Amino acid sequence: MPLAGSSTGGRHFLQIPGPTNVPDRVLRAMDFPTIDHRGPEFAALGKEVLEAVKAPFATTGPVIIYPASGTGAWEAALTNTLSPGDKVLCFETGHFATLWQEMAGKLGLVVDFVPGDWRHGVPPEVVEEKLTADTGHEIKAVMAVHNETSTGVASRIGEIRDAIDRAGHPALYLVDTISSLGSIDYRHDDWKVDVTISGSQKGLMLPPGLSFNALSEKAIEASRTAKLPRSYWDWQPILAANANGFWPYTPGTNLLYGLREALKMLHEEGLQNVYARHARHAEATRAAVRGWGLEVLALDEREYSGSLTAVLVPEEHDADAIRKLVLENYDMSLGSGLGKLAGKIFRIGHLGHFNDLTLAGTLAGVQMGLVRSGVKIDTDGLQAALEVLQS
Ligand SMILES: *Cc1c(COP(=O)(O)O)cnc(C)c1O
Repeated sequence: MPLAGSSTGGRHFLQIPGPTNVPDRVLRAMDFPTIDHRGPEFAALGKEVLEAVKAPFATTGPVIIYPASGTGAWEAALTNTLSPGDKVLCFETGHFATLWQEMAGKLGLVVDFVPGDWRHGVPPEVVEEKLTADTGHEIKAVMAVHNETSTGVASRIGEIRDAIDRAGHPALYLVDTISSLGSIDYRHDDWKVDVTISGSQKGLMLPPGLSFNALSEKAIEASRTAKLPRSYWDWQPILAANANGFWPYTPGTNLLYGLREALKMLHEEGLQNVYARHARHAEATRAAVRGWGLEVLALDEREYSGSLTAVLVPEEHDADAIRKLVLENYDMSLGSGLGKLAGKIFRIGHLGHFNDLTLAGTLAGVQMGLVRSGVKIDTDGLQAALEVLQS
């Protein structure tokens, strides 16, 4: 089998929910010599991207950019704001929430992990109950994954903020937007999020390798007394160097060229238009799934993800066998079921560099794959999606 993407017969369809397809424009923008990261040309680049990157977070505050995957930015958010033995409140929305709270435990935090069914987001009413009951203010942070990439469920980050406020609780609010930033409406400042975590390889349309922490004043204040050990992730030296457009260590120079271009593309389309495009593609995808007679994993319509749709496969079928058939026959990669959903679902990524015909091609490939795998479906599914796109 040729390597994915190496076929001469057209392009590979990379329809996993990250990494996503990198636009040619972004690839071209990175195809320049790597420059001296302590020189004047770099300082101009650094200042420009550090300013422009604020837009998708909807913040006026600082955004730290790490040469690291999203997992690094998770660790940075925890180690900069918390101290050993601090209690954190997390919710089992899926695989990524589970991994993040495991990390918190390994770092020496005390985790209150509220169980969930992997089909719902963080329940704001439970956040309010838990915080109201915590009269001694032992909980130091609420951790939420905005878009649970393992399930296609988007938590209501603004409503969770309202719940924290109703409880009158001073906990920090830490939010993972790794697969929602630049795809689903997000407001770091309005929702008074203290640290927003993100990554480059999903809605931002870049290759893997950069990740982000957007900071509130309160988060910066917390970092002055937080005692978890940190060195590489420490915000203070980074903020100091960033003031002049530099980093304390070697930044991901060529990825920053790409970031500058990707942010330009988002700006040209307009972020609200970008969010509407994602919502519309998600709606068309759900129409296809229902048209096939299959079930969308997300159960609450207020929590449908704009970035991806997870599809439940009938019990007698193995979702991974369907994905394998689709890859081998149509050169398309679909997302696998993660953790306890392995083999039970596949995930269709519809985020980033994506348009109506990319979606039509993707859904056609899924439909053909389902039919060839012997899954009993109604082939009106694709037509139902096209009707949403036509309307
Ligand atoms: C992809 C993803 C991660 C992990 O990011 P890496 O870049 O793989 O380290 C964490 N959280 C969410 C919600 C994600 O989608």
